[in-house]
Amino acid sequence: ALFLGYRMMKGKQKHSLSALDVMEAANSDAAVDLDHLKLLELIGRGRYGTVFRGCLNDRCVAVKLFSSTNRLNFCSERSIYSLLQPHDNIARFLSADERTAADGRPEFLILMEYYPLGCLSRYLSVHTVDWSTCCRMTHGVTRGLAFLHTELYRGDQYKPAVAHRDVTSRNVLVRADRSCVLADFGLSMRLTGSRPCRPGDDDTVSISEVGTVRYMAPEVLGGALNLRDCESALKQVDVYALGLLYWESFRRCSHLSPGEAVPEYQLAFQAELGNHPSFEEMQILVAREKFRPRFPETWKENSLALRSLKETMEDCWDQDAEARLTAQCAEERLWDLTLLTTHNHRYTHTHTHTHTQPQEDL
Ligand code: ADP
Ligand code: MG
Ligand code: MG
Repeated sequence: ALFLGYRMMKGKQKHSLSALDVMEAANSDAAVDLDHLKLLELIGRGRYGTVFRGCLNDRCVAVKLFSSTNRLNFCSERSIYSLLQPHDNIARFLSADERTAADGRPEFLILMEYYPLGCLSRYLSVHTVDWSTCCRMTHGVTRGLAFLHTELYRGDQYKPAVAHRDVTSRNVLVRADRSCVLADFGLSMRLTGSRPCRPGDDDTVSISEVGTVRYMAPEVLGGALNLRDCESALKQVDVYALGLLYWESFRRCSHLSPGEAVPEYQLAFQAELGNHPSFEEMQILVAREKFRPRFPETWKENSLALRSLKETMEDCWDQDAEARLTAQCAEERLWDLTLLTTHNHRYTHTHTHTHTQPQEDL
């Protein structure tokens, strides 16, 4: 309550809170005054939660509602969120609480910042993006994932390395300025610190078989996840899915299909397996046949940007999990791609005036 009140007082000065304020607020169990919370519109329905756009004392918020049967998911997501605040590329957590639903059972709420443009998948299905926006969006997701994967000591705060375990374009949210944040930590798992995952735990099966089937890495589908080095293995699974997310995003990049229609938005493997691929179908296609999404016909140019981009995707979704990029390395690659084109725009500009150098890229 304190936190939200503070934010309210500060009005539009969104970035005036110190990191410490946010950390404290995120870690406190201070209850929000739910009497003032109004749920206005259903905006998402996932496996464990129902998400509403809501309003709390005139402030627009998103509310993820868990029924009593999903209490463990709620607890887990809340505790992961507290570890991760604040970060520019992680969805902003405001508060968590419990209340009694109409049927007399408890229900659980996670309050977070409301992202008006919704999830990345939906955004891309209605909008194309230019090169620099696409780079910035995917770079942001990658930066969020790299942060998640990193073990950090900040003063007396400890942040363990965490695996997301459900990286998909539906679990990335888009800000009004089209920067992106990673969200939905309901399946996330601490990899270091006091209670990291261990092979042979009771939940070994759940360690290897969670997430969205479409984005499951070949070693998960094939039951060959390396549980001896759980930390690396689960990070590699996240990076595989990140590669698919890049493919979905850059397909919608207008600059990569110059003079041609930008391909319609597609989920990874949608062309091959449709809207509801089964585990077995995915297993055959991805684990056994080693199939990966095809690059669109319109990506013909042999430009440096396209070559680096394709290579980055392939290095993320490599069949050999250990050969994949780390999230940190993928972040650097994406950053280089962003710069490459900023440079090219200038280059192109110079070119039109001097006609001295061949135009390259994009
Ligand atoms: P689940 O764990 O059930 O998948 P998510 O946290 O992924 O729940 O939320 C489901 C959907 O709700 C997301 O894909 C997104 O479309 C929407 N959503 C979630 N949080 C927000 C938010 N803060 N702002 C806007 N839309 C959101
Ligand atoms: Mg989700
Ligand atoms: Mg989820």
